[in-house]
Amino acid sequence: MRAVDIIARKRDGQPLSDDEISFFVDGFTRGTIPDYQVAAWLMAILLRGMEHHETVALTMAIVHSGKQLDLHDVAPFVADKHSTGGVGDKTTLVVGPLVAAAGVRVGKMSGRGLGFTGGTLDKLESIPGYRADLGTDEFRHQLASVGLVVTGQSVDLAPADGKLYALRDVTATVQSPPLIASSIMGKKIASGADGIVLDVKVGNGAFMKTEQEAADLARLLVDIGRGVGRKVRAVISDMSQPLGDAVGNALELKEAIDTLHGAGPSDFRQHCLTVATQVLLLERQEAAETITPELERLLDGGMAWEKFRQWIGAQGGDLGYVDEPGRLPSSRLTAPVLASRSGYVSGVRADVVGLASMQLGGGRAEKDDAIDHSVGVVLSAKVTDWIEEGQPLLTIHANSEARLQEAAARLAAAYVWSDTPVKPPRLTHQIMF
Ligand code: URA
Repeated sequence: MRAVDIIARKRDGQPLSDDEISFFVDGFTRGTIPDYQVAAWLMAILLRGMEHHETVALTMAIVHSGKQLDLHDVAPFVADKHSTGGVGDKTTLVVGPLVAAAGVRVGKMSGRGLGFTGGTLDKLESIPGYRADLGTDEFRHQLASVGLVVTGQSVDLAPADGKLYALRDVTATVQSPPLIASSIMGKKIASGADGIVLDVKVGNGAFMKTEQEAADLARLLVDIGRGVGRKVRAVISDMSQPLGDAVGNALELKEAIDTLHGAGPSDFRQHCLTVATQVLLLERQEAAETITPELERLLDGGMAWEKFRQWIGAQGGDLGYVDEPGRLPSSRLTAPVLASRSGYVSGVRADVVGLASMQLGGGRAEKDDAIDHSVGVVLSAKVTDWIEEGQPLLTIHANSEARLQEAAARLAAAYVWSDTPVKPPRLTHQIMF
């Protein structure tokens, strides 16, 4: 088999066999197929798509690229949640400890920022000392002792996904349902989760722009997981504006800490409760109406916060920084963007805000770029708000005057206005299982 022939077959729109797919993934993982051929292959997949059996084969090739964890000696049921990626999406930082505080163990392999969407690990690494490179023994040990572990792509679990994910980020090959589905489910299956909730984002700040695209991706994810015996639920959730107010690594971490103290923006809190409820529903035979109030008590009573501290401490994070979030990285410069007119906010382009945060240094343009944890954007006006001309819409956090000016010009165009009141966007579009 030759890589170039497989690229050509996909370029010409032909379905690939399981053997061809595993040859490619294997070769890339072992370093015998170079980045440039894999980049061409990924672009051919993005443009031509994959049939269901090809996506399943790609998922399983990713799973078989490394070890598979069996966690049943640690716990009878291990849950995971995963987002397809959004702007301001710090949900894991709250849902992980909330669900663990409710007694369900959560073991999660997470990703770094991809395109204009942020990554959970980048947010967590705003905390000095936080380790995102746990080996499998450490993963199991922490799952048993704390009930919650969030680590990165370890070399021995789904290593193919780590390499593919980084290459897709810089070759404009992120937005492909089979690539997204195999990437997510490959990691989830390899890391031994019995139950998985997928948070499938829809809207201008998500990879899936329309309800139909999001529903198709959700179906694909659920079907792949169920095909290998996992319990899977998908929440199709709104990304027509950023989730919560903060966008940027340390800024989002601070917002998650507020939420774990029973405060935080209401859309973000509500979304966390929805996702956490779905996680518990994977395991329990109860109604959502009884689970959500229990989760609210855990959030407002400080139990989820206590679990967060245990988790961060176990992974080496300096708790001084989470106890006093003012010590987390903060930018040298801040400046507001003011409204150029009065009116009701009818849209806040999440993609524009995400891109601005990335260009401030909060995301990567190239796969090995360093991240500036301190920069980003904090919104003070969101959809439905009435804003007077000259009032602040948001605050930019930057470390360079030039980047600040560039972001300000970009962000002024993120707002869409209406002269009449507008309806709030639906936070949850659909739940699928
Ligand atoms: N999250 C992932 O893990 N993979 C993708 O491809 C997109 C979002």
